[in-house]
Amino acid sequence: AVPVAIVSAMSRCARRGVLVKHGGALEKMAQVQTLFFDKTGTLTSGQARLTAIATAPSIQPAEALRLAASLEQLSTHAIAQAVVAAALERGLALSLPQQVEEQPGAGLSGKVDGKAVRVGSYEAIAGRAPPPAWAADIVARVGDEGAAGVYTAADRSFYAALHMADEIRKDTPRALRLLRTLGVERIVMLTGDRRDVASAIAGSLGIDTVLPEQTPAAKLAAIAAARTDGVTMMVGDGINDAPALATADVGVAMGARGAAAAAESAQVVLLVDRLDHLAFAVRIARRTRAIAL
Ligand code: ADP
Ligand code: MG
Repeated sequence: AVPVAIVSAMSRCARRGVLVKHGGALEKMAQVQTLFFDKTGTLTSGQARLTAIATAPSIQPAEALRLAASLEQLSTHAIAQAVVAAALERGLALSLPQQVEEQPGAGLSGKVDGKAVRVGSYEAIAGRAPPPAWAADIVARVGDEGAAGVYTAADRSFYAALHMADEIRKDTPRALRLLRTLGVERIVMLTGDRRDVASAIAGSLGIDTVLPEQTPAAKLAAIAAARTDGVTMMVGDGINDAPALATADVGVAMGARGAAAAAESAQVVLLVDRLDHLAFAVRIARRTRAIAL
């Protein structure tokens, strides 16, 4: 049977919107040493605003956005949903994409109005090539400002770069401070995004370790390695985080806007996307453990 103190702690967490699926997770939460955070949609809101768009000379910005958003309709990625919202706000009529395939952490491809369209990260669209002249300014700004960059191609040619301002969640700095005072020794950012963008966000939050350009398998491997040194917690929102969430001693999913696959893989689900509430839950877990011992 689960001790009464643990049941009562779990219900206090639930009142804060922190769903702890079982008592074992609460006990692990009390002992976390290394804390991993995904970036996009976890440390940042993921509810990005489209602030600039640059296109190849062959296409108008509105049409570029319409094609990208048509495809993004079928993605659960936070930034994908923001691209769709930006297109709808501008009154663009989206097409239904066909033959859509998603590569978690990279982007997606499919047919839109007979064109083979791809949308996603810079690497997924342009590979290691330097940006063409029309895209250079947006690529540089995305890196400097820690924004989300979305890139698209049609029929194999790169044709648009979108600058999406993705703000750090209001409660993130406070949550990180609180977690450190609760005894978390190491905070690591584990992101699929580029190093420049990741470093801009990590620097403003005082996060010491940044692991950028992580595939879902690389995120999993980073956590598996850290587990040999102590108790790990991973917080994430995306399909690309699901394997890592399942591997950590405690996986925590952003439940309100995150992907269902993340919530299923995690032992803790934030029903309201508030990292400070997660910190309160860790404090509850530590106090409960102190009482139980
Ligand atoms: P994180 O691991 O920090 O959550 P992701 O790897 O999910 O980050 O996304 C990082 C970047 O990859 C985004 O900022 C965006 O540039 C790009 N990206 C990935 N998937 C998509 C998508 N479906 N649509 C648009 N951009 C995407
Ligand atoms: Mg994410």
